[in-house]
Amino acid sequence: MPRYLSADYIFDGAKMHRNSVLVLNEEGQVISLSSEEEQGETPEFFKGILCPGFINSHCHLELSHLKGKIEKGKTLPGFIKEVVPKRLASGSEIDAAIVAAEKEMLDDGIVAVGDICNSEATFPRKAVSELVYHSFMEVFSPDPAKAHDMLNLGKTLQSRMKQMYPQSGSSITPHAPYSVSDSLFKLINESCYVDDGLISIHNQETVSEDEMFVSASGTMYELMNAFGNGIPHFRASGFRSLPSTIVKLPRCSNVLLVHNTFTNSDDIERALKYTPRIWFCLCPKANLYIENRLPDVNIFTSYSDKIVVGTDSLASNDTLSVLEELKTLKEHFPQLKTQMLLQWATSNAADFFGWKELGTFKAGAYPGVNHISTDEEGEISASSKVKRVG
Ligand SMILES: [Zn+2]
Repeated sequence: MPRYLSADYIFDGAKMHRNSVLVLNEEGQVISLSSEEEQGETPEFFKGILCPGFINSHCHLELSHLKGKIEKGKTLPGFIKEVVPKRLASGSEIDAAIVAAEKEMLDDGIVAVGDICNSEATFPRKAVSELVYHSFMEVFSPDPAKAHDMLNLGKTLQSRMKQMYPQSGSSITPHAPYSVSDSLFKLINESCYVDDGLISIHNQETVSEDEMFVSASGTMYELMNAFGNGIPHFRASGFRSLPSTIVKLPRCSNVLLVHNTFTNSDDIERALKYTPRIWFCLCPKANLYIENRLPDVNIFTSYSDKIVVGTDSLASNDTLSVLEELKTLKEHFPQLKTQMLLQWATSNAADFFGWKELGTFKAGAYPGVNHISTDEEGEISASSKVKRVG
């Protein structure tokens, strides 16, 4: 028996519809979205909005056991110093936290996740999960002599994942501009070219990242110098982090720039001149947690089709909820319309990851259906809640 669903508003991934009916088959596949008159059936009615299931474009599920363990407001160099020793924990503690965090995402109406992996910790869970994943095997080392070993680590992770979970998407990806040598960037690019892989990279998450590239100084430069053999090969480019780094990334892959807390409009223009295949991932709650600062979202909204949303990890967030990220954006940038925010959390992310059956109510898709309660104007508010209803 098909299901007929209606609401004050139905957001189909691109547009908001009123007086419309969404028809699903028993497997949750979209049969149609059409006007009430055309349909003729009496639908189940929801107050608020129905929209496709959410996509969490940036998560580190394997860090879920660090919930509440890292002090807020230490800025990124301080955060990294705390995470490195604290991420070590017993296997059972890590596994239990992964299962609980995944349940939190399912309860939040998330249907798919772009997840960063530095280990195999999440693979057994992913192999049996109902969520769709793309796993980014993240590699880093500022030491060019270690580039081959680091790439091989990423490749080993990738082949372990393919053994355990053959249908999963995965790619090898660089951690951040400051933590990857030019030699390692080259090897990652070659591997992405062969695999047609997606790239995700943390970008301009802290102010001293730009300082490092402009003048080889500052807190991030000093932190990198203090690890292992330091960074004797590093030379300042004289440009900020994004213009210095984008030219090291492949033009034939989709590139996800994550955080962008200190990105300015000149950085965006320079990056887009190099490649149009850029998406910007906003993780506002993690930015507030780590840096107590938000990106200047207004400079990104002219590229609204290229914005997506992520939760980052429970090391830097108290929830893995896309709706909570949207509420935080709305609270700090009230001019952002709900329709735009929902597009970021659904169809934009599906475009980046190439998930054609997600993020849309087009006939044939299997997007999952979320019900979101709204204020009188049909906008997301601080008291909005989400429930998966299809
Ligand atoms: Zn991250």
